[in-house]
Order: sequence, then structure tokens, then C-alpha cells
Amino acid sequence: MPTVCANCGRLSLRRKELPQGGADFHVLVCNDCHTTWDRDENAALNMRLMLVLQLLGRDRPAVFCRQEGGVD
Ligand SMILES: [Zn+2]
Repeated sequence: MPTVCANCGRLSLRRKELPQGGADFHVLVCNDCHTTWDRDENAALNMRLMLVLQLLGRDRPAVFCRQEGGVD
């Protein structure tokens, strides 16, 4: 499932690849802004943004909305 980067707001996060092969499921790297995230920290910042927008009566950004016909 694609993940939104809390720094640049794009669906560009991927799991960090380990030197010995495989991937670290707890560390994400953004393909656009190259920020390295702890997965939980990134998720917490995205949830805080959703809360702030809701409190302000604003719509959820499209990047956080499911697409019609999507499988996610
Ligand atoms: Zn980013």
C-alpha cells in the first residue's frame, strides 16, 4: 500500500533496502524528497495533519483519499 511522505506530501515512500538484501519494514525513504522516516513517526505526523484539517473544517487532501476502482 502506498504511503504518503509527511515532508513533501507525495505517495513516494518505499521501504529502505538493507545492504544484505531484503527491506527494513520500519524505515521508509521518500523517492521525491529523500527524507528517511521511521514508519510510525511518518504515520503519526500524517494523522496529526488529518486531525488539524478536520478541526479547521477543511477537506482531506486528495492524496489521502482512496481512488475510485482502486484496490488499496
Ligand atoms: Zn517526501
